[in-house]
Amino acid sequence: MHEYSLVRSLLRQVETIVSDEGGGVVEEVRIEVGAFSGVDITLLELAFADEASRHLGYQPRLQTTAVPLEVECQRCRSRSVIEDFEFRCSECGHQQVIIVSGEEVRLMEIEIRELNNAS
Ligand SMILES: [Zn+2]
Repeated sequence: MHEYSLVRSLLRQVETIVSDEGGGVVEEVRIEVGAFSGVDITLLELAFADEASRHLGYQPRLQTTAVPLEVECQRCRSRSVIEDFEFRCSECGHQQVIIVSGEEVRLMEIEIRELNNAS
């Protein structure tokens, strides 16, 4: 499933960050989910719960932020948010537009609680 492979790649990034930071417990993972990413948030949350327990041994909170689909007009260069998947410029009506955001799922931030090394 698409959501599972996405979550696995997100968790790999999370694990890299955690080891770069010298370890700790991940409390929260914040991601951006593009409106045009084709990702089902409910499925993504399920996959995250599943894969996080498997990879980390526990489940951090997952916070998702929806990112609208935004395009840039190739004629007037203005940017429009596409809501009904009708790809056209809202300024001049031109149909040649390129997607600038809203296509991907991105890891934004993670919150790590440091382990106390009382020695
Ligand atoms: Zn335009």
